[in-house]
Amino acid sequence: MAQEVETAKTTSTTLLDVKGLKVHFPIRGGLLGRTVGNIKAVDGVDLFIRRGETLGLVGESGCGKSTTGRAILQLIKPTAGSVKLEGVELTRLPSSEIRKKRAEMQMVFQDPYGSLDPRYTVGQIVSEPLENFNRGNSKEIREQVEHLLETVGLNPYYVNRFSHEFSGGQRQRIGIARALALHPSLVVADEPVSALDVSIQAQVLNLLQDLQGKFGLTYLFVAHNLSVVKHISNRVAVMYLGRVVELANSEALYQTPLHPYTQALLSAIPVPDPDIEAKRKRIILEGDVPSPANPPSGCNFHPRCWKAQAICREVIPPLEEKQSNHYAACHFPG
Ligand code: SF4
Repeated sequence: MAQEVETAKTTSTTLLDVKGLKVHFPIRGGLLGRTVGNIKAVDGVDLFIRRGETLGLVGESGCGKSTTGRAILQLIKPTAGSVKLEGVELTRLPSSEIRKKRAEMQMVFQDPYGSLDPRYTVGQIVSEPLENFNRGNSKEIREQVEHLLETVGLNPYYVNRFSHEFSGGQRQRIGIARALALHPSLVVADEPVSALDVSIQAQVLNLLQDLQGKFGLTYLFVAHNLSVVKHISNRVAVMYLGRVVELANSEALYQTPLHPYTQALLSAIPVPDPDIEAKRKRIILEGDVPSPANPPSGCNFHPRCWKAQAICREVIPPLEEKQSNHYAACHFPG
């Protein structure tokens, strides 16, 4: 049974509403290449994002968070489920309509080196979406590009330089300028700082926050590290093996995590105060993340969970509101 977030709290301020999202990739085998199984990369995700907020989506690598982001943008076709942007069901739109919708939803990629084509100048990269969507004549587009570069903290004078002439942080700014060119309402930022030096990460995070305030952007911020999303997110969703296991306001999630997996992730974050750090107990998870091709029965976290009981091996815990606005998928939360 897919998890279900009780979305009665989804209001007119909701920009994105995702229900029962699944992305399964077929495994082919044998001489004829028949389907012999499925990798359940995303296996029933429910979440919603209010206009102007940042939802952090966190989990270990391979948990399906990036695939969720791409499926929301329809860059990967979902196997099942619903994705509504401003009430419009994206999963049923023909590709010509999806293309038009792309103006409203953009992506900032993880790798600032691989995501920018080295054969093109910065001006060509940032102007591409403007040209594709006929947003002005060449003079107007040039002015928009220069303005976008200024907005992300780059000198417009760089417009004729190639992306390989820039540092990682500057390239990520170019990627952000390209993502903002069409004034999207939703930006999916897929690990936008994980490839950058720590000193540069804070600058890019601050830039994203400034831009959100300036343009009223809504972010789905994908990260593998809870400490990265802590300050930028209004709410945080934690994913494990294709499902959201906890979803709450940032403060509640960090102060009183309800799901054992979230508790383990948080216990791994060092505390700057040496006295507190010395007294803290770290939860070491045993075993590896199971294969999404053959996930465990019931709660898929049960082989690694120190609280697991018989029911956990048999019944999938639904994502339910355990405290006000605090959802967890666990039979024994807290
Ligand atoms: Fe652990 Fe059971 Fe909760 Fe799963 S449902 S997280 S196995 S206590």
